[in-house]
Amino acid sequence: MFEVIIIGGSYSGLSAGMALGRALRNVLIIDAGQPCNQQTPHSHNFITQDGKTPKEISQLAKQQVEKYDTVKFYDGLVVNTIKTSGGFEITTNKKDTFLTEKIIFATGIKDIMPNIKGFASCWGISVIHCPYCHGYEVKNIKTGILANGNNAFHYAQLISNWTKDLTVFTNGKSTLTVEQTDKIKQHNIAIIEKEVIALEHINGKLKEIIFTDNSSFELKALYARPEFKHHTNIPEKLGCELTEHGLLKVDMFQKTTVKNILACGDNASLFRSVSVAVASGNMAGAFLNNQMTEKEF
Ligand SMILES: Cc1cc2nc3c(=O)[nH]c(=O)nc-3n(C[C@H](O)[C@H](O)[C@H](O)COP(=O)(O)OP(=O)(O)OC[C@H]3O[C@@H](n4cnc5c(N)ncnc54)[C@H](O)[C@@H]3O)c2cc1C
Repeated sequence: MFEVIIIGGSYSGLSAGMALGRALRNVLIIDAGQPCNQQTPHSHNFITQDGKTPKEISQLAKQQVEKYDTVKFYDGLVVNTIKTSGGFEITTNKKDTFLTEKIIFATGIKDIMPNIKGFASCWGISVIHCPYCHGYEVKNIKTGILANGNNAFHYAQLISNWTKDLTVFTNGKSTLTVEQTDKIKQHNIAIIEKEVIALEHINGKLKEIIFTDNSSFELKALYARPEFKHHTNIPEKLGCELTEHGLLKVDMFQKTTVKNILACGDNASLFRSVSVAVASGNMAGAFLNNQMTEKEF
């Protein structure tokens, strides 16, 4: 029986674990070891850890949390969770079960790779989603934006701060408005509506974008924001509501809409970054402990 089980032991889960472990709570962190940024060679924009590999950051985090004997670890995937009279019963893929009073979901999200050959191999290397994470490393070079409509417009506006050598690929007929199209063109950004079939690359480093008509366009970097899904639908099965963006609905203390269930990190945040994941994990841990002490005192 644990006071808190944290499902997901990457940046946000470990951060919640540290707050709770240091608060003398009896905590278990269950992690399947599949963080979303694992393919990216270097992680940026997290102060003190800028330029480290994703693994270096999470390993150091884990070592620091492991020092607290209040926190236990379990490697595995949570496959089921049911509500019990005293809390929750959690079952893993190895058929182990654990009981807990409270749960923190720190499960992240899974990016769904589009059906474009080479996309998945370039993901996080030269195909990137976030300029704050990787824009500096690809500044002032030949860059594409693979997006349409409002997303393409927003990206064009944002990325033009990092490079002026920009082209928008709408991958089919443009859904940009006339005003958006005019504005993009005023900035000498071309819009190509051809359908994309593949990305030519060497070890994830982009060379060319290839279209269905067999023509191609040389590129060094490409911004894209693929669809995502949750790693698990357990929070929903337990009654947690989602936002209009499909993320877990939380308040400023990371509380979901279900009592004794919190969520932190990418599964509950529109802004994906290690620092935000760590901050929300810290908040979830501290808030939960505060709630428990109020009840106990
Ligand atoms: C390609 C890429 C590059 C990025 N680069 C940067 C960068 O340079 N700088 C930056 O600040 N941010 C970057 N980010 C964003 C950053 O990686 C995320 O914001 C951060 O990883 C979110 O942390 P998290 O703990 O919420 O989720 P994750 O790190 O994704 O971890 C979730 C964990 O939960 C586990 N899990 C899920 N379901 C279960 C289950 N049912 N049972 C057990 N375990 C489970 C997963 O296996 C995983 O280990 C990048 C993201 C991507 C996709």
